[in-house]
Amino acid sequence: MSLLETVKQRFRDEFGEDPAFIVRAPGRVNLIGEHTDYNDGFVFPMAIDRAAWIALRPREDKRVLALSLDMEDRREFALDDLPRPAEVAWIDYLIGVAWVLQERGYALRGWEGVVSGDVPIGSGLSSSAALELVTARAFHCVSGFEWNAAAMALACQRAENEWLGVKCGIMDQMISAAGVEDRALLIDCRSLETTSAPLPAGTAVIILDTGTRRGLVDSKYNERREQCEAAARHFGLTALRDINVPTFERRASELDPLTRRRARHVVTENERTLRARDAMNVADAAALGQLMIESHISLRDDFEVSSPALDAIVNCANADESCFGARMTGAGFGGCAVALVRAEGAPGFVERVRKRYIAATGNQPALYITRASQGAGQAT
Ligand code: ADP
Ligand code: MG
Repeated sequence: MSLLETVKQRFRDEFGEDPAFIVRAPGRVNLIGEHTDYNDGFVFPMAIDRAAWIALRPREDKRVLALSLDMEDRREFALDDLPRPAEVAWIDYLIGVAWVLQERGYALRGWEGVVSGDVPIGSGLSSSAALELVTARAFHCVSGFEWNAAAMALACQRAENEWLGVKCGIMDQMISAAGVEDRALLIDCRSLETTSAPLPAGTAVIILDTGTRRGLVDSKYNERREQCEAAARHFGLTALRDINVPTFERRASELDPLTRRRARHVVTENERTLRARDAMNVADAAALGQLMIESHISLRDDFEVSSPALDAIVNCANADESCFGARMTGAGFGGCAVALVRAEGAPGFVERVRKRYIAATGNQPALYITRASQGAGQAT
């Protein structure tokens, strides 16, 4: 049974009628442009065919009642008395979105419904952004305010930053809000302008979950952000987005060696991301794959956010005849890599990489052949 059918059926069981709305918001995988979003730079993710779903109906009072099928938990809160999170639980993502929307002046109505998702939790495919955006979409349906993808993405990012206390850039929320079917989305993280480009014909995007999880990454993430800010400050810039590769190379020796490497990743990654857009526009899978390979090397050696498991799975993928290129994706230190492969070779690729990776590391991976899906929206 599809998740749409599952949430619909459970809604009927719980509430005795069909839901008034079914809404969906996807997870994402980033093809290229890593650790560039908080440098006002470019990212190139796609929304995936795994998503968070809510089947719901409006309520007359200002309460939200939600049943999570995945957590087997039923929670309720009042829109005019939002409880601050003590220990973060799934319901706090819904409360955080309600908080920020009300802060921004949206008049929210209550609703009740059933929540479920198939974005793997905590593996770096952004199940949290999917849950935030699907919640925003639920409020949009019952409250009738206008849906603007960029405004909703910014609101959900703020919920994650300020309500959940997770520092993240704008990429995850923006792609979950604005993804386009069968296309990747180049996002300018400064202007939030988006340009979509089709994935090269005859290719497939495969997510390679190393089965390892990032631990204690918050401090490392914050440290990388600070190093990038220091480099930008040194050059008298608001963000590393504003320096191109030739100028950077001319002035790189002014930075201490560590800051230099961190900045070099960001500056070259921005350029690679724009070149990836050009490659995609002419359906050049080989060029796109090569840029992904270079991105991984830069993240591994200059930005130092890879891990032995990520390096191993990327090497297994790149060694395969069907693979155009593979790289770690997301914040790093564990989680997932992404590969661009020949579509007809995809099932064989998955089997071979699984075997090679298990032999090399002993870890149990999860591999998903995925396709680019539409951003947050209403299914019925
Ligand atoms: P990710 O990398 O998947 O975004 P996070 O740690 O940022 O990982 O967010 C995961 C959290 O989001 C979960 O612990 C849970 O609180 C919430 N969440 C995500 N998906 C669901 C879901 N389908 N149902 C309930 N809660 C969810
Ligand atoms: Mg998250």
